[in-house]
Amino acid sequence: MYNPEAIAAAFAAAREDHSKAIALSIEHRELAEQKNPRFAQIAKQLSLIGADIAKSFYSENPAKSVEALAAESLRLQEERKALLKSMDLPEDYLEPQYSCKQCSDTGRVNGKICSCIRRRAVDFSLEALAAVSPSERCSFESFDLSYYKDMKDENGKSVYEKAKDNLEYLKAYSEDFSEHSKSLYIFGKTGLGKTHLTLATANAIIRRGYHVVYGMAGMIFSDIEREKFKSEEGKYTMQKLLEADLLIIDDLGSEFHTSFSASVAHNIIESRLLANKPIIITTNLDLGGIHRQYGERIASRIIGEYVPIRFVGEDIRQLKEFMY
Ligand SMILES: [Zn+2]
Repeated sequence: MYNPEAIAAAFAAAREDHSKAIALSIEHRELAEQKNPRFAQIAKQLSLIGADIAKSFYSENPAKSVEALAAESLRLQEERKALLKSMDLPEDYLEPQYSCKQCSDTGRVNGKICSCIRRRAVDFSLEALAAVSPSERCSFESFDLSYYKDMKDENGKSVYEKAKDNLEYLKAYSEDFSEHSKSLYIFGKTGLGKTHLTLATANAIIRRGYHVVYGMAGMIFSDIEREKFKSEEGKYTMQKLLEADLLIIDDLGSEFHTSFSASVAHNIIESRLLANKPIIITTNLDLGGIHRQYGERIASRIIGEYVPIRFVGEDIRQLKEFMY
């Protein structure tokens, strides 16, 4: 669960917010004290009272009772509030304003990771996905089924129903997703909404707190090639591909094809299968094409272990151009 990089980024962002809140409260205190020296006196008196309360716990005959000191402290705080109000400033003007009240932007509550860190980590992961894909506009809600109305496949069957089935299947898949969900083989011609629905699936699964790694097949394979032959780390490393809860390989078959890319594809598919972790493959290749380009072993893995999701119909991007 959770992308470790996103968690680290979330903690860093929380720490930054914490420092900013402290810095701003200091600035506010200085401003207030410049305008009215009484603020400085109150602050001094409050800190003396604090020290007296601490001391009174150790002394047998304290000069003042704890109750009296506490009452005095309260009176000073009320005076300060009244002063702030007279200056049209909020009551908590001098306090640090943390973005998370639960953990004061430390990221932890009683030693446990605060929910704000999870929220921030999800945001980071969604941003990271958006940086490498058009995922921001890809949701299940923005998948427009009306383009498929009246469209028939090569056998004269309605394409609309199939598109609707695919949408519903992927929606349910993302709602039920776990680290050991089934792998998916999403195939069909270009421009039928495969990438849209795959990115919608990725977004939904990231929102549920899972660690999703998404990449175009070409980018993944060239990074792995550089890692292996030049020991250079790119965006994708074998370790990252294996540790993700879900790996998405987009547009398999579109990459520059070498015998190495076929062996990388094989390695990734086998390793994740062994770890019982899912992959979503999207591709224009039907099983015959997979067999030709990647060989018998990958084709039989996909037949045996992957749920096939077929997209049928005409290129909807071309259709959209006609409609506008
Ligand atoms: Zn928090």
